[in-house]
Amino acid sequence: MNKSPDPVTEVLLVEDEPADVHLTRMAFEEAGVTARLHHVEDGQEALRFLSGEAPYAGVPQPGLILLDLNMPNMGGLEFLERLRELDHADQIPVVVLSTSDLDRDIRTSRQHGAADYVVKPLDMEQFCDRVQRLAEDWNLPRDEAIPAPPSPAIARARPLATPDRGAPERTTPAANEGKGVPVLLVEDEPGDADLVRFGLRGSARERFDVTWVDRLSVVPETLKEITPAVVLLDLSLPDSTGLETVRAARELFRDTPVVVLTGYEDEDFALKALEVGAADYLVKGRIETPTLVRAIRYARSRASLEGRIRESEARMAAALEGANLGLWDWRIDTDAMFHDHRWGELTGLATEAGTGPVALWDQALHPDDRERRDSALQRHLRGDTSRYSSEFRVRHPSGAEAWLLDAGQVIERDHQQRARRMVGVVRDITEHKRLEQRLETLARTDPLTGLANRRLFMDELEREYARMRREPDYAAGLLMLDIDHFKRFNDQYGHEIGDQVLVEFAHCIAASLRAGDRAARLGGEEFAILLHGISPEDAEHTAERVRARVEAMEPQTERPDTAGVTTSIGVTILCADDRGADDALRRADDALYAAKSRGRNCVVVNGSTREEEPPKD
Ligand code: GH3
Ligand code: MG
Ligand code: MG
Repeated sequence: MNKSPDPVTEVLLVEDEPADVHLTRMAFEEAGVTARLHHVEDGQEALRFLSGEAPYAGVPQPGLILLDLNMPNMGGLEFLERLRELDHADQIPVVVLSTSDLDRDIRTSRQHGAADYVVKPLDMEQFCDRVQRLAEDWNLPRDEAIPAPPSPAIARARPLATPDRGAPERTTPAANEGKGVPVLLVEDEPGDADLVRFGLRGSARERFDVTWVDRLSVVPETLKEITPAVVLLDLSLPDSTGLETVRAARELFRDTPVVVLTGYEDEDFALKALEVGAADYLVKGRIETPTLVRAIRYARSRASLEGRIRESEARMAAALEGANLGLWDWRIDTDAMFHDHRWGELTGLATEAGTGPVALWDQALHPDDRERRDSALQRHLRGDTSRYSSEFRVRHPSGAEAWLLDAGQVIERDHQQRARRMVGVVRDITEHKRLEQRLETLARTDPLTGLANRRLFMDELEREYARMRREPDYAAGLLMLDIDHFKRFNDQYGHEIGDQVLVEFAHCIAASLRAGDRAARLGGEEFAILLHGISPEDAEHTAERVRARVEAMEPQTERPDTAGVTTSIGVTILCADDRGADDALRRADDALYAAKSRGRNCVVVNGSTREEEPPKD
């Protein structure tokens, strides 16, 4: 070997493959070689370099040439021949770096004057070893401090080989490693794969455990063993190319971010890759450690954010679904209201999620409830209420009616405090309303007779006074009824028959009334009737009619003694100057007392004075 006595400070690399150039530079760094590495792309260029032609005027002559054999324009062998013709450069030792290990190539290179022949190994670690040996053999200066212990990312990889040389379909970090970020590299070009792996090794702050596969078809198997945090994906693979590769990868990796490694320096293509789901893209010739590390870091943090958003959305959807809530989201400034499918079902207005104007609601809202709903909504939009909520009926296209509870809140206002966006949920409360109405009815009904109870009757009486204040000409009559000698029924036939008589009596008086008039059981065997819009005379006539109907009533129960039921009735007319319903009740009660005094089974109008005690049996 023509080892030069002086350290070689300049090395010329003649190599057309950018990946190999990159690898060589990295191997130089790795081996701590401090010689300067110049690079030209083919033999012609190398000759110009050595002759100092533009743009190489003034460049120092190299002390060593590293030469690739297969290059366009001028290959390695031709260069070796031409080199001998350059008198000032013919002494520069040339080391052939070739992927070919064919004896013929080695021999020919020697014959052409190559000083050494190095078969380029496909493993980075081995390549670093070779460069170290080259440095020793050819007296390249080295900084001994630099070489770091081999990085796990590199050292762990088994020798890479091209698939047709029987390469492993996958190289994985050893089982005892794995504290770094798990990265899955899908790349069929061993050189490119090494570039990435070596690039990742250069990161001082982070460690990466790279698993390398050379095609998509082996990914499912690989995913059984590792869960990558990020996928680096070459687009031209033996089993898939172009955007199809991105789509296929999205299917395979789902939530794991995929960073595309593209050889095309084409923005449009890269953007399309992003559109079909790539997290980022890197242009191969320019992959440097910081770019690579940053791309991985961003892809991971974005994926984690997206994951959290997805999780929160899923939680929300489950809550809405579980609570049977429909969701609406109203952009007030543009009047675009998004609704989910459940909202559509509940309102009967849609079968799936969609967007429309807020007036969509009006198609379903019960006309009688619209005003109430609108005013609640407006109050909240104006900021008068902290929350909006309203209960209303909707009519489905099928004709079915449902009660909904709609509730929401403005979540965005402009600088003038005008509502800009409001979100709400809607719930079906039909069943609840039905129960509520049933409870309401129960609370106002006498359970024995089914008539109104005292509470409901008093409310209606109060409403009559309110109406009289609004309409001075309006009049209403009040009748108080008490069954004559009722105790007798209990005493003779027992309480149950007594109850039955009460029920019969209730039905009889209710049936004697006009629709709209109200009969009630105030308690015991005391009843009352409210006659709307009636003159004193008509009130008396009605009372008389009721009395007569009771007297004529056929007993509905088996009673040994079919003694008839009769009633005494006191009548009064509500007066505008009454202090309240109690005044009228007292007057009617007085009239009833008078009727009892007059011998029962009769009608007395307007509380005549108590002339006598009712006779006792
Ligand atoms: P008068 O003609 O003076 O009204 O005589 P009366 O027997 O009807 O009057 P009184 O007020 O002395 O008696 C009413 C009775 O009604 C007393 C009570 O036991 C009975 N009673 C009250 N509520 C009920 C009820 O819900 N069921 C039954 N079976 N009896 C009741
Ligand atoms: Mg009685
Ligand atoms: Mg009584």
